[in-house]
Amino acid sequence: MKLLLFIVMGYLVYKIFKRSIEKVEPPSGKLEGAVAHKDPVCGVYVTEEDAVVGRLEGERIYFCSRDCLEKYRERLEKKS
Ligand SMILES: [Zn+2]
Repeated sequence: MKLLLFIVMGYLVYKIFKRSIEKVEPPSGKLEGAVAHKDPVCGVYVTEEDAVVGRLEGERIYFCSRDCLEKYRERLEKKS
């Protein structure tokens, strides 16, 4: 019986945990009609027009500023 209780508790914790993750998810997509992208360095959302676009490892990544682009590039270099 104790094991069953443990499983139920675990399931409840999992559900609550999952729900809290879903809540944290960023507001998707649109910002004043333009597509918003998340700056992976500082977490700010930028529109395609305002963003500094970096082409890194074949991907287009959007940054709020050149500083963030440089920081991201440094991180990549350190990783590899
Ligand atoms: Zn930034």
